[in-house]
Parts: sequence; C-alpha cells; structure tokens
Amino acid sequence: MFRRKVCRFCADKGLRIDYKDIKVLSQFVTERGKITPSRITGNCARHQRELTVAIKRARDVALLPFSTVKS
Ligand SMILES: [Zn+2]
Repeated sequence: MFRRKVCRFCADKGLRIDYKDIKVLSQFVTERGKITPSRITGNCARHQRELTVAIKRARDVALLPFSTVKS
C-alpha cells in the first residue's frame, strides 16, 4: 500500500492512539505481530513513538500478540 506518506494521526484529528483500540493498532503491526516501521507507515516520529508504546501496552494486557515468529 503506497499512498501518500502522511502521518495518519496528524491527518486525522479524530484518530487517537489508544492501547485498547486494537482496530487501529493492528493496522500498524505485521501479520507476524511486529510493529511496522514509520518509514513504511509514514507516521511522524512523535506518533510512531506513541504507537510503539501503545502496542507494547496492548501486548502486556494480551490484546495484541507478541511476535509469532518461531522458526
Ligand atoms: Zn503525527
């Protein structure tokens, strides 16, 4: 998916980073459960950092899986 690389959270003021909001968070992790780098998502550094924290917190409360790579 290569659209314009605009930070989604800067572009959409209604979109908030919440560790409970897995619908949003899951858009920024790969199928393997890894966090998508900001150069792919186009997120700005500030929001990418918030996202990383939120995803880690979501993992802690088992809303998101940890990396499922087991090979
Ligand atoms: Zn942003």
